[in-house]
Amino acid sequence: MILEVIVDISSAEVDRTFDYIGDDIPLGSRVSVEFGKKRLLGFVIGKKDTSNFEKLKKATLIDSPIDEKQLQLMDYMRSKYNLRYIDVLRLFLPTKLREEKNPEYTRIFLKPTLKLSYDDAIAQIGPRAKKQIELYDFLVSKGGGFLAQMVNLYGASAVKGLRDKGLVDETDVHERRVPLGTLDRKDKEVVLTNAQQDAVNQIVGGQGVYLLHGVTGSGKTEIYLHVIEHFLKIGKTSIMLVPEISLTPQMLGIFRARFGDKVAILHSGLNASERYDEWKRLRTGEAQIAIGARSAIFAPLTNLGAIFIDEEHDTSYISESNPRYDTREVAEERAKIAGAVLVLGSATPDICTYQKAVEGKFNLITLPDRISAHKLPDMEIVDMTYEFRCGNRSPFSSTLIDAIGQALSRKEQVILFLNRRGYSSFIRCKDCGYIPTCDICDVSMTYHKGEDNLKCHYCGATKAPMTTCPKCGSHNMKNGRVGTEKLVEELESIFNGMKCLRMDYDTTTGKDAYFHILDQFAKGEADILVGTQMIAKGHDFPNVTLVGIIEADAALFMSDYRASERTFQLVTQVAGRAGRAEKKGRVVLQAFWPSHYVFKFAKTYDYNGFFGTENNRRLVTGFPPYKDLVRVMIASTDADDGRESARNTYIAVRDLQQKYGKFPFINLTRSPFKYLKGQYRFQIVMRLDPANAEMVTKDTYKIVSDNRPKKGSAFVEINPQNLY
Ligand code: ADP
Ligand code: ZN
Ligand code: ZN
Repeated sequence: MILEVIVDISSAEVDRTFDYIGDDIPLGSRVSVEFGKKRLLGFVIGKKDTSNFEKLKKATLIDSPIDEKQLQLMDYMRSKYNLRYIDVLRLFLPTKLREEKNPEYTRIFLKPTLKLSYDDAIAQIGPRAKKQIELYDFLVSKGGGFLAQMVNLYGASAVKGLRDKGLVDETDVHERRVPLGTLDRKDKEVVLTNAQQDAVNQIVGGQGVYLLHGVTGSGKTEIYLHVIEHFLKIGKTSIMLVPEISLTPQMLGIFRARFGDKVAILHSGLNASERYDEWKRLRTGEAQIAIGARSAIFAPLTNLGAIFIDEEHDTSYISESNPRYDTREVAEERAKIAGAVLVLGSATPDICTYQKAVEGKFNLITLPDRISAHKLPDMEIVDMTYEFRCGNRSPFSSTLIDAIGQALSRKEQVILFLNRRGYSSFIRCKDCGYIPTCDICDVSMTYHKGEDNLKCHYCGATKAPMTTCPKCGSHNMKNGRVGTEKLVEELESIFNGMKCLRMDYDTTTGKDAYFHILDQFAKGEADILVGTQMIAKGHDFPNVTLVGIIEADAALFMSDYRASERTFQLVTQVAGRAGRAEKKGRVVLQAFWPSHYVFKFAKTYDYNGFFGTENNRRLVTGFPPYKDLVRVMIASTDADDGRESARNTYIAVRDLQQKYGKFPFINLTRSPFKYLKGQYRFQIVMRLDPANAEMVTKDTYKIVSDNRPKKGSAFVEINPQNLY
């Protein structure tokens, strides 16, 4: 048999295989191969009977970390998203397996043996083996050392010598660090409600995809747990996906309390060793449940019973950089291959997902009520243009200030949401209108008071803030829209002695900073939590009775066909943080455009009403789910190079209409962000009939790769998350 091998998994740049021979080496195996003069790691992705080359070298089997079903999933991803083998492989293999032949090796700890006295040991080594004596002395003086390190210091043969003579004791000292394991919480005995039990029964007895549409606090998590329990009992495994941001100590605590060591956690905070450990526990079957953010969909589980995607509408399930993929589509394919069920849960499903349920492609389960006695919190909508006309220049309406005061006096907690970080959105010259922009992105910069600088939120570049306008010399520089940093400052000046926490991208850069803030707030160490969309997801704080939403309509002013949907989802999610336990909740929503239909439906938590209106709008205007949006993005450091590539690509793509019939829409433009991170950007946007979208997209992949810019890159996105 000829093996088709991807060589040097960690750094290969070419997407091609090399032929080797090797009998009995299964597909999905890691092998060691001779390549040029080096020995490299390779990966067997295919087999064939003949090769065009003579004198093939032999591959040596190391292990087989991937099974055939996973290879099948890789093939699906490669063809669907036009990905290279190497990029897909990286998703399935922990770094350690790509880079080290034997990842265990680095962790073996050597200690001098206790069986012999020092003198007897030295005698046994013999006077001529100088390196071995040095090594032995080192081990005695330090109490021991890591094998890999000793090999570096004293050479492999000295280490081998001592090991062969039995003069060292070896232990694998690596203790599995239970990620965030200190945050255990007691398991609640829960008797399912009838609605929950019905849902569990349907899912465990069914097949295909289930959309679990349940309002916040309707007990969806409890349903996931029971389904997982059911599958565990019959020897089946499960994958639980949550948005990275909801991978909270609370969530992990719940899983750990219920399933103990059967759970493996995969999140971005793990280092390579920890990740490998969790991966291995799943691969060997020691752990049967994988919980994690989107990459956990690649968990090495066999005998899969169910996959869950909580908050399925969350944008973090879409990978927006190479390799680009939609986790929900990958999960659907994985479930299909494994014969498992896929459960998508949300209080505010993606319009396209819900439409599939309406069409009967997905099974719909609805949970209209909250578990706790209290209904969803009442929502008041405050018109900020009216406040402004009445002379209120602060970011808070009088209603919200009153409500905060009341909550604080009752010793209850408050969450304030504002989707803009930093101190203020930009500085602007009142006299000439000048706004400082980023030199390499051509977008306005945000003022950060703590660091006292202007920052670009797209590339991270900073500039010194200015008090004088560089264009007209005026001193009349004015701050723009308020950000989270400023909000905290304002609150501190209004409410004496109040303690406020801020959670946004800037305060959560440290490894566990995010968890730490949530933990402090959960323990009641602060009265108010101010944050961006990070605070919207899944948190369960029983003492929070008030949620304030500042500038709820900020996103509606953007030209994105999903702006209404996003706003509805965000408002509903944030509002759902109030009044989750015994105490009744209240929501104050501030907007400059309070009459927008999003707020009409959000106020009464009317998802179905919103879906009806929004879905109809998409039908009329020709957007997903009725048309597929395909975008080709071309970026180059050289404007002419980019323009030429875009032009050629456009002509070829446009001509596809001769083959497939007229597209509803096709256009070539400069991207709304003409210049980003030092690159000129051009885009071709098409809207296609779903009937031939897949074919057109595949042809487009080819066209794009034939017309790439020389000094940049080009890629294709299907229904992209952003159009800038
Ligand atoms: P969701 O995931 O839909 O937002 P959760 O599963 O977090 O809702 O449930 C909300 C709260 O209700 C949680 O505190 C949970 O422990 C509790 N809960 C869920 N199901 C039950 C039940 N059957 N009996 C009592 N409490 C429950
Ligand atoms: Zn000016
Ligand atoms: Zn920038």
